[in-house]
Amino acid sequence: MCFLKDFAYCLFFLSQALRLPKAGETIHGHKFFIGFGGKGANKCIQAARLGAKTAMVCKVGKDFFGDNYIQNFKDNGVNTEFVGQTSDAATGTASIIVNSAGENAIVIVAGANMLLGSGELHKALPVIRHAKVLVCQLEISPQTSLQALRMAQENKVKTIFNPAPAIPDLDSGFYGASGVFCCNETEAELLTGSSVITVEDADRAAQELLKRGCGSVIITLGPQGCVVLEGKESTSKHVPSTGVTAVDTTGAGDSFIGALALYTAHYPSMPLEEMARRANQVAGVSVQAVGTQSSYPNRKDLPADLF
Ligand code: ADP
Repeated sequence: MCFLKDFAYCLFFLSQALRLPKAGETIHGHKFFIGFGGKGANKCIQAARLGAKTAMVCKVGKDFFGDNYIQNFKDNGVNTEFVGQTSDAATGTASIIVNSAGENAIVIVAGANMLLGSGELHKALPVIRHAKVLVCQLEISPQTSLQALRMAQENKVKTIFNPAPAIPDLDSGFYGASGVFCCNETEAELLTGSSVITVEDADRAAQELLKRGCGSVIITLGPQGCVVLEGKESTSKHVPSTGVTAVDTTGAGDSFIGALALYTAHYPSMPLEEMARRANQVAGVSVQAVGTQSSYPNRKDLPADLF
């Protein structure tokens, strides 16, 4: 079973207006949209759409949004046995206002996400233990993420860790607990303290991250694709992206990692570089449509040679 864990700030509420309101002001907007999100949920749903057997471990509020959030997993074929609902906090949300210049103001309320802890992880142990891969990131308490990665490792389950949203003082235990440490250029920059713009910069950052103890490192570079540094190699490989015209790159990193999880689970002996090449193609499809989960492709819509 491919088990993907995450937690995510669940839903986002997006309002478009000519300008951002000032404090105390009410203004009219012209468009409103509610979307399902959360970095972990995105990855899980991308992997499920590619054919992975997935389960989520997370916590949402016992509220209208939590109910809908769970239904979205079910609609995508994700096992929700370990999606808990609590009355002690609301479902995590991000409220976003975007003005006509594309600038935004965002309020994130992690809510129920932060109530996921050891107790829930232990309850989910039967599914973690039998998973082929566990994926997590930092939209829940970092201690819970680290504990989940360690539980997976103790049970010989492969791990993919995405240090997002980036935190500067990442517990050094995360490196040793990451089979594949996969981040984007911004996260790599924050973690290494060096600018990451070019492929050469990404190679240097990957070398630095690998030294900290992870199994392998992937740094995604938007339209430049990604850099892959396998633990046993001394130099990284640049894997270019597909040359496509991007219309919306939101959630591209999650699409990439969701695909990477599928390949890790279904093709355990495939070289990481080849998994990354295919994940670039999946994410390359996602950037050609608007939205996050709404832009993620299904297996039937992709070339057969990706599977
Ligand atoms: P994040 O969403 O975390 O910022 P990136 O922007 O690095 O992640 O994108 C992740 C992956 O999505 C890239 O490695 C690439 O495969 C694909 N991708 C992103 N932007 C583009 C683009 N403009 N053209 C083609 N592929 C893209």
